[in-house]
Amino acid sequence: MTQSQNPMLDTNLISIVIPAYNEQEVIDEFYRRIAKVLDGLSYRSELVFVNDGSTDDTIKKLRALKKQDGRVGIVELSRNFGKEIALTAGIDHAKGEAVIPIDADLQDPPELIPELLAQWEAGNDVVYATRLEREGETWIKKATASTFYKLMQNIGDKVSIPRNTGDFRLMSRRAVTAFCSMREQHRFLKGLFALVGFPQTAVYYNRDPRFAGLTKWNYPKLINLSIEGITSFTTAPLRLATYAGFVIAICAFTYAAFIIYKTLVFGDPVAGYPSLMTVVLFLGGVQLLSIGVIGEYLGRVFNETKQRPLYFVQGFDEPVS
Ligand code: UDP
Ligand code: MG
Repeated sequence: MTQSQNPMLDTNLISIVIPAYNEQEVIDEFYRRIAKVLDGLSYRSELVFVNDGSTDDTIKKLRALKKQDGRVGIVELSRNFGKEIALTAGIDHAKGEAVIPIDADLQDPPELIPELLAQWEAGNDVVYATRLEREGETWIKKATASTFYKLMQNIGDKVSIPRNTGDFRLMSRRAVTAFCSMREQHRFLKGLFALVGFPQTAVYYNRDPRFAGLTKWNYPKLINLSIEGITSFTTAPLRLATYAGFVIAICAFTYAAFIIYKTLVFGDPVAGYPSLMTVVLFLGGVQLLSIGVIGEYLGRVFNETKQRPLYFVQGFDEPVS
């Protein structure tokens, strides 16, 4: 699977892609709100839901929706693959001229879609929705998110990732084709979206708290996502290890020269167990850290070389429009 699977590309069709993992409480309300928006558009539309191995009644809800509305399509993954891959699967199955990924939990307001479309009609290939405020999120989450964006901004290689921007955005067909050509296992979507390039613009909105249910994120997951983001987009940590080694070597050399000089001139007896211990432990720590950093990258190389498919589809119930 190297390219997106859309044999019959359809102009005048807008694809909405919704990853859903245990979202039984929100599906109906989500559908109600998005259907209202889609009905008011001059485009035809399809709703590509991706059931990411939900263990609740999400799939039943989706099948019921499918019966009542032909625009609904269901991609059923063989197990839970995580949001990033679920979204990729959905985008692969979307046939529209413009593709809009959106969360099922109504944190991304469907009512923003006409604005996204307007910017697309104005000639933009990527229209991302940027949050003005993060309601219903703790200050710790806000602070860590902000630190992360700053970090990425400073070390990212040439691509700058828009701040306070999630996966909610509109992509033109050529942006989607570019996105789908990148099949790496370690998928940091915000980075991949940014890497695509093309004329881009932002639309601003207020992010609502989750409508119902619980967030699937927790801190260990968020930290992993950040490491994912950093290591799949920049080799800066490797360079940092090199710099650190260089600086420490210079310090060590200077210190050695100083000791030799001191011994020659004053003939001091050997002393300094504490300083010796400190230096040894410090260097040990730096070395382990650097090995860890190298290992992190090596692990990624290992995972990529296997070239496994990103996901397995259990069934695709196509939208009919
Ligand atoms: N999601 C998914 N697979 C997962 C986790 C989440 O498809 O393993 C979906 C989820 O159903 C929702 C979207 O990704 O539509 C965002 O998830 P969530 O609201 O938990 O994340 P947050 O908004 O806190 O970033
Ligand atoms: Mg959410």
